[in-house]
Amino acid sequence: MSTEPDTSEVYLNGEFIPLGEACVPVMDRGFLFGDGVYELIPVYGGRPFRLSQHMERLDNSLGSVRMENPLQLDAWERIFARLTGSIPDIDQLLYLQVTRGVDRTRNHLFPQGGEPTVFVMAWTAEPRDPDISGKGIAAVVLEDNRWHRCDIKATALLGNVLLRQAAQDAGAAEAILVRDGLVTEGSSTNPFVVQDGEILTPPASNRLLRGITRDLVLELARGVDMPCAERHITRDELETADELWISSSSREVQPVTLLDGKPVGEGVPGALWRRIDDLFQDYKAHL
Ligand code: PMP
Repeated sequence: MSTEPDTSEVYLNGEFIPLGEACVPVMDRGFLFGDGVYELIPVYGGRPFRLSQHMERLDNSLGSVRMENPLQLDAWERIFARLTGSIPDIDQLLYLQVTRGVDRTRNHLFPQGGEPTVFVMAWTAEPRDPDISGKGIAAVVLEDNRWHRCDIKATALLGNVLLRQAAQDAGAAEAILVRDGLVTEGSSTNPFVVQDGEILTPPASNRLLRGITRDLVLELARGVDMPCAERHITRDELETADELWISSSSREVQPVTLLDGKPVGEGVPGALWRRIDDLFQDYKAHL
């Protein structure tokens, strides 16, 4: 690993500076409490993907933690354009984070009149892995032991981090989470189960983050009359699914072909996943 400081440009509190020089004070509540929210936005062909949906979710997350959006949409857009504009032909990911800012003391109570910390960076997206579309990925089922406000895209991700690592330690690429016998989501993805030709995903609630990719999958499926429903999925339905997929902004829609070491359906990426993936790639290509 290089020890050279990273010179790629990032945005921090009104300035564009090299990543290696971007510093936040230790009294930042994001550092002390994980007191902040974030978004991750794919950028295809130089254009942020589903930007209005991401910015609406940002407003919802901020509202839920009683913070105001520190910037107008056009200011966000100018930052995004500057950070991604130098390489418009390459797919990128934009990460933005807003914390409740710096306080003088470590106190759980909100500081009076503090300024939020605003950070944005962009990086090149991983190219599509042909192994994933060819063979699929492995997942494990784990108990969802996180807090009850998973609908907030909070930077406090320790629960998700531990679950994702537990999946990795078990040789799997994702954990599918179950709470009270019902599927909620993945550690950083939304799950889809195919049963008798119908595409199912859990309904939006405080138990899961309503993924922008999840909503697009439903929109694409409905657009071509593929049967789909947002309804509770039991652990048993998960384990007997004909197909299982996960979705997120960075992973798009990936087929899960091994669950807890057992094949899902035929143990290969399914026909409905191929159809949705084609629709998804087509949608991206015609923005
Ligand atoms: N659930 C969780 C817990 C996540 O972290 C993510 C990824 N941010 C998702 C679902 C998928 O959301 P999106 O499709 O908006 O990336």
